[in-house]
Amino acid sequence: MTLIPFKQLNSIPLDFEVCVDKTFFKGTLTHKKGKIGQLNGTITGSILLPCDICADDIEKILNEEVSFYISDGIVSENQDELDIVEITTPMINIEELLASELELIKGDYFCCSDCEHKELDQEF
Ligand SMILES: [Zn+2]
Repeated sequence: MTLIPFKQLNSIPLDFEVCVDKTFFKGTLTHKKGKIGQLNGTITGSILLPCDICADDIEKILNEEVSFYISDGIVSENQDELDIVEITTPMINIEELLASELELIKGDYFCCSDCEHKELDQEF
């Protein structure tokens, strides 16, 4: 497990790199201000995703740029415009962040190339 103490963040980007199953997550963590840090990274590798039409598991190649803020506790200021992930411990758990990003990717519409072709055939 890769845990980075929030307090360790400063203005110099801190590199991190983790690997879970077939996915790789690397990037940097920077302190912004107060209880807010920023994560910039890239998720590569692949995950198995069920096709939304035929439900077959398909290996999806990932190359996702991710960028969001991390707050150490609840942010009182109005930060509505920012994409903030609140952490409840003083440690940033990189694997947990990766897992929640993968959940978002899994939540997106996805269909395999076979079904994609079938849909095109129906249209024309
Ligand atoms: Zn399919």
